[in-house]
Amino acid sequence: MSGVSLVGVTKMYGHVKALDHVSIDVCEGELLALLGPSGCGKTTLLRCVAGLELPDKGTVEIGTIDVTAVPTRDRPIGMVFQSYALFPNMTVRQNIAFPLEVRHRPRTEVKTRVDELLELVNLTEQANRYPKQISGGQAQRCALGRALAPNPEVLLLDEPLSALDALVRGRLRDEIRRIQQRVGITAIYVTHDQSEAMAIADRVAVMNDGRVEQIAAPADLYDLPATQFSATFVGSRNAVELAVREGRVGIPGSFHIAAPEGSNGHALAFFRPEDVQISRGQTGDGMRARVELKIFLGPTTRLHLVGEDDGRPIAIFGDMASRQARLIEEGETVRVHVDPDHVQAFPILKAGQRGS
Ligand code: ATP
Repeated sequence: MSGVSLVGVTKMYGHVKALDHVSIDVCEGELLALLGPSGCGKTTLLRCVAGLELPDKGTVEIGTIDVTAVPTRDRPIGMVFQSYALFPNMTVRQNIAFPLEVRHRPRTEVKTRVDELLELVNLTEQANRYPKQISGGQAQRCALGRALAPNPEVLLLDEPLSALDALVRGRLRDEIRRIQQRVGITAIYVTHDQSEAMAIADRVAVMNDGRVEQIAAPADLYDLPATQFSATFVGSRNAVELAVREGRVGIPGSFHIAAPEGSNGHALAFFRPEDVQISRGQTGDGMRARVELKIFLGPTTRLHLVGEDDGRPIAIFGDMASRQARLIEEGETVRVHVDPDHVQAFPILKAGQRGS
């Protein structure tokens, strides 16, 4: 098994810089998720690892071997795409066996390996069915079995769950993770869905505009996004523009933290709805805020709150246990605190500036 190392990978499509000096090390046996909005370069990066695109600059190594100029068929990779890409005229068994047969492996070896893979991806019962006779989730498991058949060093997955409905998506996500860990294979997984990336990956690389903003373990990324973009993209945070006073930024009576370097008059404070504490009653400290809306989310209820600072309205979301939120009425005034340990503030950037 091998890791993957990208150094200074740059890829242009005409004037579009799809990848801008991207350097990433994926460790052996690690699952790295590439997360970012549409057009940020995730698929291009995966295609460079697969050999489907040639970088204009930089190198791609698998293990200790520089594969930058090696054709796809000679790279030790397996690929799974959103569109399954199964052969419609072959059964599940034949689809999984295909990569072994094109490599002219002995028939008994193919049978043993395919039986093993059918069990791994839980398709033994469907082995003799054709792709049109199985569900989307089963088709994707078949595609995964086929990708793993030749024992690749690295598994590349491009939005493998996008075509599936929500329930199947959650189940198959966990299934892919179980299989990746059981096989112990290094994997790169492209997604634009933050909860999917967090759930499945050892580390997440947040991408923006052809660059890597941050690479971190899901819990670290969730707790401490390093850049304004990461904070915006991960964790459904409140993003509130607040005045900087005497080197501090905050909401009077609610929280204060040191103002970020480079802030000028105002700063953008990020905090998650679960770090907002909501108390009933008019007396006591905390920002007074009116409950504009309650959204029931199951175990928690999200409150849309509007307070003010110096005549400026401040709108924030706060989450509460649903059992407690039942006691609060829309239109009621509550008191709001924010845990300062979980607030991050960034200077407000002018158009064209990048967050740091
Ligand atoms: P999505 O989630 O929508 O698939 P992505 O993050 O995977 O997006 P890429 O497909 O890697 O993004 O595209 C990165 C940039 O490169 C985009 O601006 C895209 O329009 C451009 N691009 C990608 N492929 C080509 C191509 N073959 N020709 C020209 N431009 C391309």
